[in-house]
Amino acid sequence: MYPDNNSRSAALWQRARKVLPGGNSRTSVFLKPYPIYAASGSGSRITDEDGVERIDFVNNYTSLVHGHAHPKIVEAVTEQISRGSCFAAPTEAEVRLAEILAERLPSVEQSRFANSGTEAVMMAIKAARGFTGRAMIGKCEGAYHGSYDYAEVSQGVAPADWGELDAPNSVPPSRGTPPSVAKDVVVVPYNDVERAKKLLTPKADQLAAILIDPLSNQCGLVPASPEFLAFIREFTREHGIVLIFDEVISFRLGYHGAQGAFACTPDLTALGKVIGCGYPVGAVAGRADVMAVFDPSESKPSVPHAGTFNANPVSMTAGCAALEMLTPEAYKHIGALGERARAGLREALDAAGVPGMVSGQGSLFRLFLVQKKGAGYRNMMMTAEESEMMTQLHRYLLNHGIFMSFYGLGNTSTAHTNEDIDQLIETTRNGLGVLKQQGLAAE
Ligand code: PMP
Repeated sequence: MYPDNNSRSAALWQRARKVLPGGNSRTSVFLKPYPIYAASGSGSRITDEDGVERIDFVNNYTSLVHGHAHPKIVEAVTEQISRGSCFAAPTEAEVRLAEILAERLPSVEQSRFANSGTEAVMMAIKAARGFTGRAMIGKCEGAYHGSYDYAEVSQGVAPADWGELDAPNSVPPSRGTPPSVAKDVVVVPYNDVERAKKLLTPKADQLAAILIDPLSNQCGLVPASPEFLAFIREFTREHGIVLIFDEVISFRLGYHGAQGAFACTPDLTALGKVIGCGYPVGAVAGRADVMAVFDPSESKPSVPHAGTFNANPVSMTAGCAALEMLTPEAYKHIGALGERARAGLREALDAAGVPGMVSGQGSLFRLFLVQKKGAGYRNMMMTAEESEMMTQLHRYLLNHGIFMSFYGLGNTSTAHTNEDIDQLIETTRNGLGVLKQQGLAAE
């Protein structure tokens, strides 16, 4: 049972917190009273240091689209490692992965690879700046785009700081951030065409880029509306602004990515997670004329892009193997599993009489334990009561064989079966019933 002070995870945490702040290296995997340390994973299952096996619906926050240690990926990576894990030279694997992206994503002619989604977003912003010669960027309030200062502005912002909806504050991400960072970011409410237009128009000729995740998790995992995307596409085109899609997660929406699913073609796309399928990866990809800012073949590039492990052949090989298996049929399969999860979780809420909601699309789903008023960060932000309910439900799930994110995000992989999904639904229904009995869930 979690928590258990006599567990190996608890002991590891005591050891770890002496040498790692919080006992680990990643905010999103910290858990109170202590994080659960992983020992191994296989297919749809993850096993912790105490030998407890759970069905994994986190999939390392959506990156493991084929589950853990898929034999074909293990084989491809092992073969690569035996020939060397990295070189101060490009490799064919990098060319192959770039070819796959160019073949699948409508906006992509060229790619540059790095090691995280954070770097992908950072390089996309830098490329947009290099291309336009402008400094400012626009982004949606609350949206998460990784850990680059500019992309972090107004991410996870608290109600006391967010300001009027007509003029959201640009909130610096962390203490000591240079004030210029927030000044160079225009923050607009998600899916709100009128407000976005009012806020962006006065800055139109100073904006290098508008950065959008068309299925922003922090804005509720609700798709960007066709009107919002149409407005942003038209506005950016009209004013010579680079439209960047952050598809680090939303690439999962289909064979042609979120841009294919939503029929909106950006200029640049930031990618990560699935395109390395378990190995560190990031890519900035897009129109060749914009990507030319990185090109050192004629003269010093306007945007230098270095990195010891950029396009490392292990990640590139894993990415190629993963994407080759991620066929249109595979997308259909993980999408059907996602739909089964969404429908079943809605039924579980109904059966338990808990007024929540379930959002998401394709292989991505998110459970809320309070009915939400509409898309957008402010409406979708969890209340303190909801967070407490979610913590209790999460703990129930952990203690009944289900590994979900602590705030209700889940995703399916090709390793999951209908039975796995049904177990998630049944366990959630039972967990909600317990919340209700304890008087935690709202009537
Ligand atoms: N963008 C989005 C939409 C993300 O969800 C994430 C990571 N969860 C990132 C960017 C950053 O990716 P990474 O964690 O690989 O740096």
